[in-house]
Amino acid sequence: MSTIFQRIINKEIPAKIVHEDDLCLAFHDVAPQAPTHVLVIPKKELANLAAAEDSDQALLGHLLLTAKKVAEQLGLTNGYRTVINCGRDGGQSVDHLHIHLLGGRALHWPPG
Ligand code: 5GP
Repeated sequence: MSTIFQRIINKEIPAKIVHEDDLCLAFHDVAPQAPTHVLVIPKKELANLAAAEDSDQALLGHLLLTAKKVAEQLGLTNGYRTVINCGRDGGQSVDHLHIHLLGGRALHWPPG
């Protein structure tokens, strides 16, 4: 069954897209936890980081570098945080791999 993110990739439901290329999509989170909260997702259907394989090495690198470029694009000059929630204990709620890019305020550590 396709996830909500697959439907965003397919343009079946709208999203505020800030970057798109052959491999990935980046768009604003619908429930932002910081002034800037963007999700970077692969177009490939990949449930989470645990489901990634050695053959996904270049894709994973591309997602991380895209998060960096989007952070620059959105002016996060004071820093930012990238988060990948994985599985139930990791707090993952959408079963399509995504990198959270959070910035625009000082973030606390450790996370809950
Ligand atoms: P997770 O909890 O799986 O790490 O993160 C899923 C994220 O997806 C949450 O931050 C949630 O707000 C976001 N999200 C869920 N549904 C939608 C949607 O339809 N559109 C957008 N833009 N974000 C969504």
